[in-house]
Amino acid sequence: MKGKDNLENVEFGEPDITNSDIIKEVTNTIGVGVLRSAKDILCYIIPHLLKEQVLDPSDPTIHLRVSGDGRNVGRKIKHVMVTFIILNHESKSHDADYHYTVALYPSTENYNTLKFILNPFLEELRSFKDDGLELNGILWKFELYFSSDWKFLAICLGLNSANSKYFCPWCMCSKNQLGDLNEDWNIEKNMDKISRNYININGHINPPLFSMIPMDNIIFDELHIFLRITDRLWGLVIAEIKEKNLFNDLTRKHTSLVGDDKETVTRFFNLQLLFRPSRANLIRKLWDGFYKLYCDIKNKTTDPVQLKKQALDWLSLFLTPSQGNSGDPNFLQGLYLPSQITPYIHVLVFHGWEFLKKHQRWGLKTFSYSAVEKKTITKYQHFFAKLLKMEAIL
Ligand SMILES: [Zn+2]
Repeated sequence: MKGKDNLENVEFGEPDITNSDIIKEVTNTIGVGVLRSAKDILCYIIPHLLKEQVLDPSDPTIHLRVSGDGRNVGRKIKHVMVTFIILNHESKSHDADYHYTVALYPSTENYNTLKFILNPFLEELRSFKDDGLELNGILWKFELYFSSDWKFLAICLGLNSANSKYFCPWCMCSKNQLGDLNEDWNIEKNMDKISRNYININGHINPPLFSMIPMDNIIFDELHIFLRITDRLWGLVIAEIKEKNLFNDLTRKHTSLVGDDKETVTRFFNLQLLFRPSRANLIRKLWDGFYKLYCDIKNKTTDPVQLKKQALDWLSLFLTPSQGNSGDPNFLQGLYLPSQITPYIHVLVFHGWEFLKKHQRWGLKTFSYSAVEKKTITKYQHFFAKLLKMEAIL
């Protein structure tokens, strides 16, 4: 598990919020959460969205996406934040101002607290789905979606954890089957079945919280997946050069890279600095293939069936076997082993194309949450500052 912790630190080691006043106030108010009614927020924003022609009364469907995560405030205090956006407002999907906060409370991400805190919000969502929302004579219907990083998703689904044998939120693939290229995996879980019968479904230990959102609409965050697989590919390279005692400052520096840097490294890093040309070319081919997969999955015009083939070809490349015996002059070193495939790789390869197919209208980029993390932090600080002022007045 140590490796995983290290990867977590790549993204989450630095405190997200460092304003010392806010940290102090948050420490003082531990135990106090903030909840806002999604209905109140909608009643406020729907008239604006109508005026801007983002919503169309002749097609009164609101596509509402829920997201959530845990983040650090200062060095020690973890907070959980749950937000929603209106997907109809496509041009604003990565604008933090259009992510509405419904819950914010000091805690680590855990099932029981989430269940307790989110109960009113979950009730609201259920009512949106079953009865819609009537406002000024228009009955709005709802299509609900959910997207978050793996950890938060696993908790909300009632999954054991990403390290359990049945790790996949969408299918029944087990850890032992990760490297089996003869298996084809599809989105096969059904939210109603999990809700009714979670105890008999491998990997599930709690009833899913967002049971009103169908499994097809529980969508991975493509940026999060990209970052984690980049970590994996880079980790495999580091392990190899460590074995050859080539470890140097260059590779050490990778641990401080964040999202944008990782994209640059994946695309342009000169692997010939570390390996002989034939080896460097093989690894470069794998990295380029991965980057192309990531770009294509974000592109709405990509043909999903083509993407599936491309993803499976890439997995075969990842698993390129060695040819001949090491030491022989004709020995050709392969790439990686089935045991080195991660759950993130499984999800990208087997489920990516299916999500693209089902959600081609929006494109998967719309479901990325990480993209707004940095901006959300600013909003988060304002939110707290405002909240604390309000309390001062009261
Ligand atoms: Zn799966």
